[in-house]
Amino acid sequence: MFEKAERLKRLPPYLFKEIDRKKAEVKAGGVDIIDLGIGDPDLPTPSHIIKALQEAALVPSNHRYPSYSGMLEFRAAVSEWYKSRFNVDLDPEKEVLALIGSKEGIAHVPLAFINPGDISLVPSPGYPVYNTATIFAGGESFFLPLTEEGKFLPDLEGIPAQVAQRAKLLFLNYPNNPTAAVADEEFFDKVVAFAQRHGILVCHDAAYSEIAYDGFRPPSFLQAKGSREVGIEFHSLSKTYNMTGWRIGFVVGNREAVEGLGTIKSNVDSGVFQAVQLAGIKALKGDQSCVERMIGVYTQRRNLMAEGLRKAGFKLAVPKASFYLWVKVPEGSTSAQLATRFLEKGVVVTPGNGFGEPGEGYFRVALTQEIERMAEALDRIRTVQL
Ligand SMILES: *Cc1c(COP(=O)(O)O)cnc(C)c1O
Repeated sequence: MFEKAERLKRLPPYLFKEIDRKKAEVKAGGVDIIDLGIGDPDLPTPSHIIKALQEAALVPSNHRYPSYSGMLEFRAAVSEWYKSRFNVDLDPEKEVLALIGSKEGIAHVPLAFINPGDISLVPSPGYPVYNTATIFAGGESFFLPLTEEGKFLPDLEGIPAQVAQRAKLLFLNYPNNPTAAVADEEFFDKVVAFAQRHGILVCHDAAYSEIAYDGFRPPSFLQAKGSREVGIEFHSLSKTYNMTGWRIGFVVGNREAVEGLGTIKSNVDSGVFQAVQLAGIKALKGDQSCVERMIGVYTQRRNLMAEGLRKAGFKLAVPKASFYLWVKVPEGSTSAQLATRFLEKGVVVTPGNGFGEPGEGYFRVALTQEIERMAEALDRIRTVQL
C-alpha cells in the first residue's frame, strides 16, 4: 500500500538472505550451531563499568535530556584518553562529540557533507554503513577494492581524477573489518596528502584500535601531520569494553566536521543517556587491565583458530589486530558455497562477498565464541571436503 522512498530502493541487495535461510533450516533440523559470524563480543562488560551505570542510574538529574554534544566531563575524558593513548591533543569543547555508538555517527556524517551527485570513496569489502549512509544522503559510492596485493589498503593513486574531483568523503577503517588488516603511519600520511589535494573529508573508523596482539598498538589517523585539517576519527566503546548494547561512541578531529555532524544530530537525536556517559567515563579513565585480559582471551582464540585452519589447508594471515580472521576460500568454490558446506556441519562463517564484490574468495571468522566452541568448530571444519 505504501510506496517506499527511492533511497530504500537504492540500497544494495541483502546478500546474506540465502545463508540466513539455510541457517534457519539447519537449526530447525536440530543441528547445534556454532556461530563464528557475529562481530559482537561474547565477553561481558567489565564489572566496574556496570557498577558506574548502576550508581548513575539512581541519580534523578541523569534521567533528563542530556546535552546534544555529550557531557563536557565525557568529552574531557575522551580528550585525556587520546592524549595518553595517542599523544594527540584535542579540545573537548570543539573537537570531540559523543555518539550513540559510532555507527550512528558514521550513518549521519554524509547528511552533513554529501549533496545529491557527490561521491563517497568507500572501501570494499567494508562495513556496509559507509555505502548505505552515502545512498541515504543522495550520494554515490565509488568503491575502493581492498586486495591482498595491495595489503588491503586502498590504492588512492588509482582513483580517476574526475572521481576524486567529485568526492567529498573518504571512509577508511583500520584495524579493518572484515580483512583484519592494519595501516601504518606512512599510509595515513599519504591519505592526508590525497585529501588535501582534493578537498576531501577523511572519516577514519577506528572501532578496533584497542583490539591488537603481541604488543602492537594501532596508530590513530590523527597522529598524522596535517590530519586535523582534513579528517575525523570515529571510536567506539563497543569493542574495547564489550559494550555493544550500551550505545556509546565518539568522533574527534576537525572542528568544522565535528560541528557539521553535531548539527545533523541535534536535529535527529537527543544525545546519550547520561548514566551511560558516566559509565563511559569510568571505562576510559578507569583501570585498563580489563582490556589486557580481553586481549589475552582473543589471543588464545586467534592462535587456536589460525593454526587449526592452516593445518586444515586454509591460507590466511595471522591478524595483528581486530577479532577477525580473513581466510582464503580454496580454489574451486565460491565464498557462498564454502559457507554453505560449513553450515551443513553447524558452523557459521561470513562469506566475504557479503562485504562487497572484492571480498569474493574469502570468508570471515569472528573470534567471539568460547575457545572450546572454537575447537569444536575446527573439528567440524576438518570434516568438510575442500
Ligand atoms: C562494530 C563496528 C562499528 C560500530 O560500533 P558501534 O557499536 O556502533 O560503536 C563501527 N565500525 C566497524 C567497522 C565495526 O565493526
